[in-house]
Amino acid sequence: MIQSSMQSSWVELSAPALANNIAVFKGLLSGAPSGREAKLGVVLKSNAYGHGLAEVLSVIHSQVEIIHLISPTDAIEVRKMEKQQGWPKRRILVIGATDPQEFVQLAEHHVEVTLADHNVLAAAQALKEKGLRAKAHVHVETGLSREGFFPAEIPLKLGFLGEDDCPFEVAGVLSHFANTEDVTEQQYALGQLRQFEEGCEVLEKLLGSGAGQLERHISASAAALVLPPARLDSVRVGIALYGFWPSAETRLSAKIVSPELPKLKPVLSWRCRSQIVKQLQAGAYVGYGCTYRCERQTRIAVFPVGYFDGYPRMLSGRAHVLVNGHRAPVLGRVMMNHIVVDVTAVTGDDTPVVATLLGNDGGETVSAEMLAGWAQTIHYEIVTRIHPQLKRIVVNQ
Ligand SMILES: *Cc1c(COP(=O)(O)O)cnc(C)c1O
Repeated sequence: MIQSSMQSSWVELSAPALANNIAVFKGLLSGAPSGREAKLGVVLKSNAYGHGLAEVLSVIHSQVEIIHLISPTDAIEVRKMEKQQGWPKRRILVIGATDPQEFVQLAEHHVEVTLADHNVLAAAQALKEKGLRAKAHVHVETGLSREGFFPAEIPLKLGFLGEDDCPFEVAGVLSHFANTEDVTEQQYALGQLRQFEEGCEVLEKLLGSGAGQLERHISASAAALVLPPARLDSVRVGIALYGFWPSAETRLSAKIVSPELPKLKPVLSWRCRSQIVKQLQAGAYVGYGCTYRCERQTRIAVFPVGYFDGYPRMLSGRAHVLVNGHRAPVLGRVMMNHIVVDVTAVTGDDTPVVATLLGNDGGETVSAEMLAGWAQTIHYEIVTRIHPQLKRIVVNQ
């Protein structure tokens, strides 16, 4: 069903698709040969990959074990939502940059924190001053060259974790793969996994904790799908929760791991109702730069959506949208707040029409991967850039 009562574009989220994707991962994680089943952590950073944090949570909160966020502000927002809605508190882990005062706020809200950079000493001091303790996960640098501590520097830089008055209770250890999505062989990832094991051992020694007491997690969607030995104690599933394969290579690799390919279902559709439909005479130009000239009499629809909303300007002259179940080309340049579409072949008069910018209409699909190809980027960027202020609606189909 296509909603049609709004002035700006809107996003529809399929609750059944979200449930399907969660079920796919629960199925994959169950029956681990070790007998130790990895927990399902979901990554809701960046406004739930542009899908809408509040709306996605409203559908999945009861079904997930751990929520991963980049921003401390988002974590506190989720705690507020839980309180308002009367939901039980879920485990939340902030995996992104956190300053010492934010460590204090997160501890107050019982949010787990990541120890990943030089801020940890000041954070420990700030927590001690408030008499607070925080559950923490140590990020080990294993080859992404982003955040975390090299195994060899753990004793020196994190030695304070072994002290009696340390305000951090170390509950877990994590890392992040650099090269699981762009390849069909996992040599680099396996090297990272070895580094990770080394980091875990160094940390366990420092803490005097027994092997296996710390929760180990290193897998994002791709590794969770194609590298079963890396699932460890929990996984952090981002893009695949929203129904996307991380890459074509990951999809190929998954065929090797399991004969039956997991059936991920895209969750998001992005639609817009036309502002104006009108006829242009042959020879008319469309949009800035007059880059498109009508060869013949052309019926156009003007839609109030543009690059401000996250519809990339790179789609100019390349993309099509779907109208009445058919492809309709975007004419000329994508503007800040408008696109113009050729609807000559798909409608017979000037009554308003609804365009599907991303998603299905009839038998046709415009996928995030298609938009990404036209815009020379990746689908991650397409969805995360959909403007957070656009309305998100949860639908039941
Ligand atoms: C974003 C992110 C993930 C999720 O990655 P996907 O490829 O979207 O599954 C997991 N872990 C960390 C540290 C991340 O930054």
